[in-house]
Amino acid sequence: MRLEDKVIQVKQRRTAWATLSPQRTLGSAIEWLGAKQVALVSSFGTDSAVLLHMMSEINPSNPVIFLDTEFHFDETLRYLEDLVDRLGLTGIQRARIDPVSRKRLDPDQQLHRRDPDRCCQARKVEVLDRALKGFQGWISGQKRFQSSLRNDVEVLEVDVERNLIKINPLAYWSEQDIEEYLADHDLPRHPLASQGFASVGCWPCTTPLQVGESGRAGRWRGQDKQECGLHETQPLRLRNIL
Ligand code: SF4
Repeated sequence: MRLEDKVIQVKQRRTAWATLSPQRTLGSAIEWLGAKQVALVSSFGTDSAVLLHMMSEINPSNPVIFLDTEFHFDETLRYLEDLVDRLGLTGIQRARIDPVSRKRLDPDQQLHRRDPDRCCQARKVEVLDRALKGFQGWISGQKRFQSSLRNDVEVLEVDVERNLIKINPLAYWSEQDIEEYLADHDLPRHPLASQGFASVGCWPCTTPLQVGESGRAGRWRGQDKQECGLHETQPLRLRNIL
């Protein structure tokens, strides 16, 4: 599908999809774009079990992409194994930087200290760009409540840069909705959630929340940086088009 056609189709569906439940959104996305044509991208972080569980009930073999930055906490990697096994997900794909780029860009594994933007670009953004080749769309767990940079996320967007449909089924869910879903379905929490980590990314760039902090305040502490770059340019570009 050409980018122009994607924009038209998103415009046609956007209002109706904003009121769908996340489960209906996932089902509609698969029905619209085709099985195996839309990938769920998951960080296996503190909220990830919600979408993964929903997907396991709709299509357990759906592609699920995990960006393996090589800097994940051991707890995250164990959580991934546990959830994949428990939910019966069979479409998991681990994507990581290729060895040649790693050697050229980050020979001492310290790029995250020298230039975290470049590190995220190489270990997340470019890896996702490659992993999503061949898909029509991707699903993310972004929610409006997470930060001021995410407070205009829509359920249905166009990822202009990648020429993909982007679906955010939980865009309008609250923190309480997430908690209730995890409890109602008896889903395991990320092991670090009980240690004050509200958002879990790579270990060099993630700290627990301090008193009074919320959301993603523990990520890239002490730096201007708030996002890894996977999402941040899209809303602006999207508004320009729609
Ligand atoms: S979060 Fe930190 S370690 Fe992970 S890719 Fe970004 S800069 Fe590198």
